[in-house]
Amino acid sequence: MCGAYPPLCRERSLLVEILSNGAARTVTGSCHLVTLDDRRILIDCGFFQGPKELEKRNREPFPFEAGNLDAVLVTHGHLDHVGRLPKLVREGYRGPIYATRATREIAEIILRDAAHLQREDYQRALRKARRAGRESLIAPPLFDEEDVRATLALFREPVEFATPLALGRTLHVTFQPAGHVLGSAWIELATPHLRVTASGDLGNRESALQAPATLPRECDVVLIETTYANRNHRSREATREEFRQVVTAAVARGGNVLIPSFALERTQQVLYQLRQLLELGEVPRVAVYLDSPMATKFTKLYQTCKNEFRPEVEKLLEEGDDPFEPETLSYTVSTEASKALNEVKGGAIIVAGSGMMTGGRIRHHLKHNLWRQEASLVVVGYQASGTLGRALVDGAKRVRIFGETIAVRARIHTIGGFSAHADQDDLLRWLKASGNAKVLLVHGEEAVMEGFQGLLEGLGRRVILPRPDTPVAF
Ligand code: ZN
Repeated sequence: MCGAYPPLCRERSLLVEILSNGAARTVTGSCHLVTLDDRRILIDCGFFQGPKELEKRNREPFPFEAGNLDAVLVTHGHLDHVGRLPKLVREGYRGPIYATRATREIAEIILRDAAHLQREDYQRALRKARRAGRESLIAPPLFDEEDVRATLALFREPVEFATPLALGRTLHVTFQPAGHVLGSAWIELATPHLRVTASGDLGNRESALQAPATLPRECDVVLIETTYANRNHRSREATREEFRQVVTAAVARGGNVLIPSFALERTQQVLYQLRQLLELGEVPRVAVYLDSPMATKFTKLYQTCKNEFRPEVEKLLEEGDDPFEPETLSYTVSTEASKALNEVKGGAIIVAGSGMMTGGRIRHHLKHNLWRQEASLVVVGYQASGTLGRALVDGAKRVRIFGETIAVRARIHTIGGFSAHADQDDLLRWLKASGNAKVLLVHGEEAVMEGFQGLLEGLGRRVILPRPDTPVAF
């Protein structure tokens, strides 16, 4: 199959090899080794997240020599894209890491937090194991704060969007806006004979915050995420209206309104919508608390980045107005300030992590509010099976929190439109721009990928679902 871009067809010899260590037939653990122009380039090095069996893969050796890589490119700061970078460095990688400025800053916050959590988990497990005389069974943390420091030292000058970076004799890489979270990029690797494009995570074009992803040019091989390749999202306006109705109804009940939220992007979307609704008087005036130190750090970062958002958000930032701070917002950073919220019986909106209610400060607020019939829980994100959030969405009458049984009398609302990922239409539009490129599907559930593969093959595309650690050559 020759597209309008001929060089690959002229040279039949092997030009590029792609090996997916993570996000191959699964969603997390993004890590793709691209070998071309005598260069070994790693795109992302993320954590496997989810069931224990999958998380075990974080401890497996890389299927390549860390010390032999020439460069690492990071598409964005989510843990499933950066979480194994310190392990890579611990195993001998000393080369450059390239990312946008925001991605570097997000990665720093995420990796420091991950090292801290691992140390705490390890110490807790060790204390328990010592009492049982089984301390030798406890695996040490995958990396520590020192590994994170060494990793951060390898980040080079921030990459600018749309500015090619020379990485080899003839190889240039270019980061382009992906519209997924702050700093997110898709990346093109180009030689005079070949172009390979990797999507990273692509954004939802109906996001109220991020400007939509730019489209790729024709290329030979494209690696694309498939998180939501089987569905389409609601429009921005429909989501905003749904959120307005839910918040209005929740505030009218008189109790507190709890919004569990991921710290990066989802929280800023929620704050942005609340600010608009409060300013326009579309919801009653009510105090808003952001009770998450990590979400507060990310929000401060969002306030400093003007050039990645939709024009209306950018305009507010340029005018010195803050799109992420509702007038009634308080940041509760200290533990004491967070605890003081337990005394608030009603009339407050509390935004806190974690998004699936598996940890973080939201659990304290759930304990103090779920049993009150005037309280409301507004769920704005996907709840994986087995999580407290999923149990609540599925209608549990009682839940266990901090060893206590809590009756669920609060009203529970769910809103589906806040996704930060491209939907099927977004992915199809993006792929269409890549011309006749061969398509490698990654970063999705296998069944979703297979469905999308069928759809693409029906459109005449050649599609491959890479197996983990199994190279694909062109
Ligand atoms: Zn992501």
